[in-house]
Amino acid sequence: MSVKLAPGLLEALETLALQAAPHEACAMLMGAPDHVVGHVPSPNVTEGDPARHFEIDPALLLRLHREAREGGPAIVGVWHSHPGGRPEPSDEDRARSVEPSWVWLITAVQGGRCETRCWRASEHQPGDLVEVRLAGNATK
Ligand SMILES: [Zn+2]
Repeated sequence: MSVKLAPGLLEALETLALQAAPHEACAMLMGAPDHVVGHVPSPNVTEGDPARHFEIDPALLLRLHREAREGGPAIVGVWHSHPGGRPEPSDEDRARSVEPSWVWLITAVQGGRCETRCWRASEHQPGDLVEVRLAGNATK
């Protein structure tokens, strides 16, 4: 299964990644498992080095879960950037992948250019992230 992104979403995420560099940027992804229709940017509240780690604001996450329960958009995954890195999950990312079927979008920033790839968490196996194709997005 591939994952479709709403028009302009990739560009919006990559702009956030460029603005946050050399720190990691992060956002929650909303919509359906095969179609991400929106994103909600979060401050990176990591207590570690923000150039190497990210943490979604727990208050934001709570609010999004509550809104989803009340009929708002469903949380379908998480996005973050890897300034100076690769658009692939780190060991830490895999260790933190505990939500079944979540979409993990990762944007690498290298010399002012972005590359975004998409991964999906296993339904059954925490830590297992498998790359999936981004559908309908022309590669730049
Ligand atoms: Zn990462």
